[in-house]
Amino acid sequence: MRCPYCGSLDTQVKDSRPSDDSSAIRRRRVCSDCGGRFTTFERVQLRELMVVKRSGKRSPFDRDKLQRSVEVALRKRPVEPERIERLVSGIVRQLESSGDTDIPSSTIGALIMAGLKNLDGVAYVRFASVYKDFREAKDFEEILGELSTDVSVAIGEADESTAGPARDD
Ligand SMILES: [Zn+2]
Repeated sequence: MRCPYCGSLDTQVKDSRPSDDSSAIRRRRVCSDCGGRFTTFERVQLRELMVVKRSGKRSPFDRDKLQRSVEVALRKRPVEPERIERLVSGIVRQLESSGDTDIPSSTIGALIMAGLKNLDGVAYVRFASVYKDFREAKDFEEILGELSTDVSVAIGEADESTAGPARDD
């Protein structure tokens, strides 16, 4: 398993135990080169899922890629790795139980959005801004409005001119 920090292939398993629901084996690993610690999960893969992009291009579903998208959105957010793992597992389970082997990429995007919305508001907005390709301030307002009615976005207001009353000369 390649070290996610330095890219070294020399990593070792320090600890191995079943996940909470015993659907996976959780392994604590340490990199011999940089000392970086990370966790991997081994699980059953029921079916080969294919992701279909809007362009029609198909590629095998990649759980790691899904997890990376989620992790990028959650970078530096106070969310436990176990909760991220649960979110990703939940999405995969939904995809696997949908009955279709071909999954539109938009379906995955929508599931990530729904999951992040419950997990962390900041990550949700981050992901949505990329996924929905925000171009205007109102796109952000819309998504923030979904999160909380209290959230307001500062909008630069035009200076009100202090024009005095017309003067007679
Ligand atoms: Zn390393």
